[in-house]
Amino acid sequence: MSPPAQIATAVRVADEASWGQLLRALAQTYDIWAPVAEKNRVILRCLSPDELDQVKLDAPPTLLPAKKVYRAPEETLLRFRKGEVEPLGNGQHPWALVGIHPCDLRAIQLLDRVYTGFFADERYSHRRQQNFLVVANCLQPFPHCFCTSFQSGPFARKEYDLAVTPLFGRHLVQAGSAAGEAFLRVLGLPETTGSELAELVAAQAQAEQAVTRKVNTDNLPRLLNMNVDHPVWDQIADRCLSCGACTAVCPTCYCFSVQDRLNLDLQSGERRMAWTSCLIMEFSRVALGHNPRHERVARVKQRLYHKFSYFNDQYGQFGCVGCGRCVDTCVAGIDPVEVLAQLRR
Ligand code: SF4
Ligand code: SF4
Repeated sequence: MSPPAQIATAVRVADEASWGQLLRALAQTYDIWAPVAEKNRVILRCLSPDELDQVKLDAPPTLLPAKKVYRAPEETLLRFRKGEVEPLGNGQHPWALVGIHPCDLRAIQLLDRVYTGFFADERYSHRRQQNFLVVANCLQPFPHCFCTSFQSGPFARKEYDLAVTPLFGRHLVQAGSAAGEAFLRVLGLPETTGSELAELVAAQAQAEQAVTRKVNTDNLPRLLNMNVDHPVWDQIADRCLSCGACTAVCPTCYCFSVQDRLNLDLQSGERRMAWTSCLIMEFSRVALGHNPRHERVARVKQRLYHKFSYFNDQYGQFGCVGCGRCVDTCVAGIDPVEVLAQLRR
């Protein structure tokens, strides 16, 4: 059997022992960041070599997505003292992200468009150049997922080094880059048999069918532009708490602020960068105190217009990957799938 278009390179089989060997080999070159279970949640964190058996490939989306690896929620850019500035380096070893979901991989590609485009961010670009991406295809999508609407899952299509599908006690591994291919060749993993490949193709079709939440993306930017005064905006603004949790967990939200903090000696301090959110009232306040998004309804609109209209205008792609984290996290139960469906009723 020849592989279908989305499985265009040879697929190899790793049993439990060879999967462990693969992780240990990766750990010789890279720091390993992977999803692990902690306190009833799954989080993405850096693992020590003796924690590699904790990597979870079939876990729900991690609490925070991979963006935290490239841009930490808070980090120091430089320290200063009167007359001196000490820029801080990127301070990291090359890393491998292992077991990220296909939607999170797609989100990294969207962040690349933002951070390595016209206004290139050196810090981000440097970190992106030094990594190896191992995506874990989703066999059983989670209740809030709607990745198929944005072609971001449940199986990865491109721009990974390795894709792994845990199936019937084995790991079916596929290279998506020259680095991934070289890595698999060194390990000497056998290729799948025809029946294993057929199982993989069937698993992909089944996973796609299991994603039942959908966004109709036909003319979506136009639909939004025609519905600026739709009553749904006031309805969700009445429920929204402006907490910003939806944007913190979103893998494609990228806004940050930069602040100088002066020490009590009034001679020294540091410049810090921190995530921020368009849902927070101060976000849009400008000099002399004017705030074009003082009303909460303007802020809830901004979030969804940016994802489904402005991002598309700028980059030709939607700014959402359908991971469902915002739905899972919002205490007010605000769900983009539901909001966009209401605009079509
Ligand atoms: S998580 Fe929900 S309540 Fe909080 S800002 Fe986002 S939409 Fe509003
Ligand atoms: S808007 Fe929600 S579903 Fe879309 S990428 Fe962000 S967190 Fe995921």
